[in-house]
Amino acid sequence: MESFNPADNFIPVKSKLNWDEYFMLQAMMASFKSKDPSTKVGSVFVDQANHQITMGYNGFVAGIDETKLPWGKDARAPLEFQKYGYVVHSEANAILHTTKSLEGSRCYVTLFPCNECAKLIASKKVKEVIYLSDKHQEKESTKIAKRIFDLTGIHYRQLELKKELIDELHGHLLQLFSDI
Ligand SMILES: [Zn+2]
Repeated sequence: MESFNPADNFIPVKSKLNWDEYFMLQAMMASFKSKDPSTKVGSVFVDQANHQITMGYNGFVAGIDETKLPWGKDARAPLEFQKYGYVVHSEANAILHTTKSLEGSRCYVTLFPCNECAKLIASKKVKEVIYLSDKHQEKESTKIAKRIFDLTGIHYRQLELKKELIDELHGHLLQLFSDI
């Protein structure tokens, strides 16, 4: 019988993704749950030990009768008949859904926060905001959000996800399905 060297079981391995990539993918997964037909946003708050504290996605007020509310955003209708009157943003939902402290945490979010969410993030003493898209950078609400972060010392940075990561994740998910 061929002898086995236990050392052969020490196979060099490496995680496919770093923490930034991992939590941004979590935020992207949260956004996937949103029913918003135009803008799906997700966010995840993480503590200094890289443990997820809370997550959220944009959706109507919890517990409300959604069948009576509009998802459209056509501004020709009064606010009462636009989604903006009723939607709670992902960051606000995440903050609402935890009783834990967010002081010193990192916020991973798929879209740069608006000024209303920036108020909440800053009030909770979050340390850093990591975002995927800044497509509303010209909007006043984004500029105010950045001013809030600058004045409260909250660091923010954009994360670029490598396309290969999405391909690898896709392959991984397909592998899981094939195991069923
Ligand atoms: Zn917001």
